[in-house]
Amino acid sequence: MRDSLFPLSYTCDLCGIETFDGNLCPNCHKTITFNDKLTCPVCGRRVNSAGVCAECKHLLPQYKKAVSPIVYKDGGAALITKFKRGGAYLCEYFSSLIADKLVGFPKIDCIVYVPMTEKALRKRGYNQTALLAEKLSEKIKTPVVKDGVIKIKETSEQIGLSMKERKENLKSCFRVSQPSLIKGKSVLVVDDVMTTGATLNEICSKLKKAQARAVYAATVASVEFKSPLSANHFSSDGTDGKSTQKVLPLPTELSTPKSNE
Ligand SMILES: [Zn+2]
Ligand SMILES: [Zn+2]
Repeated sequence: MRDSLFPLSYTCDLCGIETFDGNLCPNCHKTITFNDKLTCPVCGRRVNSAGVCAECKHLLPQYKKAVSPIVYKDGGAALITKFKRGGAYLCEYFSSLIADKLVGFPKIDCIVYVPMTEKALRKRGYNQTALLAEKLSEKIKTPVVKDGVIKIKETSEQIGLSMKERKENLKSCFRVSQPSLIKGKSVLVVDDVMTTGATLNEICSKLKKAQARAVYAATVASVEFKSPLSANHFSSDGTDGKSTQKVLPLPTELSTPKSNE
């Protein structure tokens, strides 16, 4: 990666005004919620009570542990959108935030990133997660398995499918390109944002089938986990939330922009 693509600038990554130091001006910095308070020890999302979140308890993710430095809302969400729409230079800032989160993390042998289809890649011109993985690789001195996971079908073909059909469909979207490079390795999967975690989970599952020794995940941002017991919308049907245990309110992929779409 040539440095000229990512010039060292002293302008705010979000609004563009001069900052003289740092990536964000004080005003924009205030709009970003950093994931430095209570987080779920498994999925790494912000939680409002200590311990494993209800979603992870309900169904353990395919990865052992995930981290994300930013909460996906307000300025944090705006930065992610910018990253996907021409702001490739943000991989520098984002990768340093992730690297900080990985201090004291279990040993990682290699990094893979969430892929795009060839068609989507041509349209955008770059895969933001690949750039993120490359920058992170430099920072944590861990190699990237380039095109380690490939996307063979658009996940957007999910539209109009039921939750169950989506799950089935998602399984046919990704493939581990060279299982021999994954076998026996401790692998970190990198993505820009975790919403439902379904895509990440599917990729981790594929890596485990390719006999990865352990699979971890790191995303720039993740949605906050809101406890169903404290969610107001449950009172509308007269229940107290306890009886809704089986239908945990997953943040829908339709309402939040998802990675690589
Ligand atoms: Zn700013
Ligand atoms: Zn969790």
